[in-house]
Amino acid sequence: MSEPVRLRITEIFHSLQGESATAGYPTVFVRLTGCPLRCGYCDTTYAFSGGEWMTLDEILARVGGFATPYVTVTGGEPLAQKGCLSLLAALCDAGYRVSLETSGALDICRVDPRVVRVMDLKTPASGEAERNRYENLDCLQPQDQVKFVICDRGDYEWSREQLAKYRLAARCEVLFSPGFGRQDATELAGWILADRLPVRFQVQLHKILWGDEAGR
Ligand code: SF4
Repeated sequence: MSEPVRLRITEIFHSLQGESATAGYPTVFVRLTGCPLRCGYCDTTYAFSGGEWMTLDEILARVGGFATPYVTVTGGEPLAQKGCLSLLAALCDAGYRVSLETSGALDICRVDPRVVRVMDLKTPASGEAERNRYENLDCLQPQDQVKFVICDRGDYEWSREQLAKYRLAARCEVLFSPGFGRQDATELAGWILADRLPVRFQVQLHKILWGDEAGR
């Protein structure tokens, strides 16, 4: 008999979606442990190690306890665990509206097509731009989102270049988000308007509400 799929989980909690096209909706977050990247602005370094091994059934039971239709699988980098694909499919099978937050450094193409993929393109100021897996862009569907966390003017200009070079806005929704504590939000909004960029500006709602508190 095959072993049940197990994943290492840092936390499962209920909050408001802080980012992406479903910002503001009550959402259950499943945070997987581990990440191969080390972005300079990372606010979830507590998810790099530790965690608790859980089976798919145990995770589904915890998620079900919140009685909330939206579920976001995040990290860390969730795709770094091989059981992540099974978890995403199981959540979809259970009827949840599922999204995945991923760094963009690993293959997203095998993710269940029912999942909304919110994929970063890491900017130069993250320190991890060379990890971007550009092959992922060809797997994006209109429901997916590409996110840039912009830390300074250089990041903004780089992101604007990627937007044009890869015709990102024709592939899916594109999110420009100011790096919390790094880039002034009003200034970024002004740049986007001045350049008439076809992107969605967003702020990290959960940071405004609760700062850097874990489990939020
Ligand atoms: S990919 Fe995400 S979790 Fe990993 S270091 Fe970067 S910000 Fe942190």
